Amino acid sequence: MCGIVAAIAERNVVPILLEGLRRLEYRGYDSAGFAVVNNKELELCRFAGKIAGLSEKAKENNMRGQIGIAHTRWATHGIPSEENAHPHQSGKIAIVHNGIIENYLELKEELVKEGYEFKSQTDTETVVHLIHKFTKTEKSLLEAVKKTVAKLRGSYGLAVSNADNPEEIVAVRRGSPMVLGLGFGENFIASDTFALLPVTRKFVYLKDGDFLRIERENYEIFDENGTKVDREVVESNQSSEGSEKGIYKHFMQKEMFEQPSVIAETMEGRIFNGELNKQSFSESLLNTLKNTQSIEIIACGTSYHAGLVIKYHLEAAGIKANVEYASEYLYRPVVVLPNTLFITISQSGETADTLAALEKAKKLPYLK
Ligand code: GLU
Repeated sequence: MCGIVAAIAERNVVPILLEGLRRLEYRGYDSAGFAVVNNKELELCRFAGKIAGLSEKAKENNMRGQIGIAHTRWATHGIPSEENAHPHQSGKIAIVHNGIIENYLELKEELVKEGYEFKSQTDTETVVHLIHKFTKTEKSLLEAVKKTVAKLRGSYGLAVSNADNPEEIVAVRRGSPMVLGLGFGENFIASDTFALLPVTRKFVYLKDGDFLRIERENYEIFDENGTKVDREVVESNQSSEGSEKGIYKHFMQKEMFEQPSVIAETMEGRIFNGELNKQSFSESLLNTLKNTQSIEIIACGTSYHAGLVIKYHLEAAGIKANVEYASEYLYRPVVVLPNTLFITISQSGETADTLAALEKAKKLPYLK
């Protein structure tokens, strides 16, 4: 799951989109791209490689626009290539997508029968054709997006624009984060606030299932049932350093060198005079821990390996622990022994399989 940035403004948004994508580089990606609307025409710029390459290409092609959507892709369906890079297009509709559409093959089959031609190997392209199809019958882009997501299974953060109506961008999230950034006479969308810190400090976090429609001066949010809702506006005092490489050659090197300070910051306030400070835990958590006889740890990738380290220490302390990949846990029957605590680990907090495993675990009789 990678990065999304979108903007609607009076000024040229291309530098905002590119800077936003650059700030999302720390998440890892294999290709990137953006679309702007000019004179009611979509203009796409995509690149299989680094943001620096995309910026170069944008400069060569003199890309400009007052409305745009942008993406860093971490390929799940189809190789990292320019054709598979986002945005994807159908007629005058363009979309960027974070996540995975699980039922894309059946949707694709239907769309091919209806005459849609696919230019990429991605799951995402089914979504843009569906939106295109529904704009023919629905009265607005928002309604077309609602109709579309009702057919999707999987996880998605989507930002959508229609060159025929370059006054708005529609977004929706399900299992993939999305935040609205508020400017003066301009509005922004991103999958991570870091992307928008140079342009705003005012954010509205979307809840799972929310739909968002932004114009230059206004925005509207609807919950998953289509009811218009107010979500809190939060002022951020976040430092933007976290997403900068600083003196390090790459983000992995930075994370390695930061381990001692990050551990110290995390433990600060929880350890007092060399002892665990119980007051830093809630009463209910302490009760749950008292009743815990075994621990089930679910994670992916490096978090899975962190889980193995935790298992080592737990079992050294006499507590039974099991560690499993979220993708395995997700698709098998699970037996839960009494007094088992369930823990997931995810560095980004957005790992799709881990979040789905957590949803599954909530329905099982783990300790509460
Ligand atoms: N599933 C989409 C693709 O492979 C999006 C991947 C992502 O989240 O970057 O293109």
